Amino acid sequence: MHVRATTKIYGIFGHPVSHSLSPIMHNAAFRKLNLDCVYVAFDIHPDNLESATHAIKSMGISGVNVTIPHKERIIPLLDEISPEVALTGAVNTVKNENGHLTGYNTDVEGFLTAIKEDLGIIPKRLRVFLLGAGGAARAVVTALCMNGASEIYLVNRTLDKAKALASEFTKAYKHVSIEPCALEDTDSLKRSLRTADLLINASSSGMEGVASLTLQLELLPKQSLVYDLVYKPRDTTLLNRAKELGLKSAGGISMLLYQGAKSFEIWTGEMAPVDEMRKVIEF
Ligand code: NAP
Repeated sequence: MHVRATTKIYGIFGHPVSHSLSPIMHNAAFRKLNLDCVYVAFDIHPDNLESATHAIKSMGISGVNVTIPHKERIIPLLDEISPEVALTGAVNTVKNENGHLTGYNTDVEGFLTAIKEDLGIIPKRLRVFLLGAGGAARAVVTALCMNGASEIYLVNRTLDKAKALASEFTKAYKHVSIEPCALEDTDSLKRSLRTADLLINASSSGMEGVASLTLQLELLPKQSLVYDLVYKPRDTTLLNRAKELGLKSAGGISMLLYQGAKSFEIWTGEMAPVDEMRKVIEF
């Protein structure tokens, strides 16, 4: 790849950001399609988010991905947001069109494509046990509600956050039953595990450096499916346990791939070379 005076700049805003796989994934895609573009990681301290977002315009950066801890706080700094952002309250992709910044959330579509590819399902009529109530969980709840899931048991370490999320989405999606549930409420947990078609971990539980919660997966029906958004490590404790029990399961690398592919398409208008992108992140 030759960086020239004409090269378009893309990147990711996060803090920390050195662990991100997005630079290798997007640069592989640019190379494959021979695009005069480069993707870099910007470690943006929360105090500098506003000036960094202005710099997208002043420095002519073509687009950025946005990750922890900026996904929500960047919204008021943008000129326009997509319908998915209005629903999730989080941005993971910004496109700069002649100084006009539009925020998108490609995690929603990334999640839907991932469960379709890996587990062969769409959310319609599913009963879902969902762990987490942070930014990733908001994208998952949006995807589930928009696509006809019937019940969501929302389980989170901090019950108040699960309650707030459930109440917000229940107002918007009256046909979906969303039940917040505390981790300590063992009776409710058991009941929801026994009826779940799909168990999703959208919390940080089990990611590198974070202890894994112990859930009684053996209570799940035999045909239940498990999706873990965590992709570092690849073989999380949750996925290993699901495999031991013979449950079909998949980890978050596919969601990372498809959210990235959608960002790429928003920025370039080209079909993302997903095989090439997958190769470099599934090392
Ligand atoms: P976030 O907004 O910071 O939310 C973190 C969530 O995890 C909260 O619900 C939090 O509960 C919970 N949590 C944190 N530590 C925990 C622990 N030790 N035990 C149990 N629960 C814990 O983060 P996020 O953006 O939602 O990301 C969550 C995970 O999803 C991360 O591992 C991230 O890498 C992954 N993710 C993957 C993709 C992908 O493409 N595959 C996309 C986005 C995110 P409290 O409310 O109690 O704090």
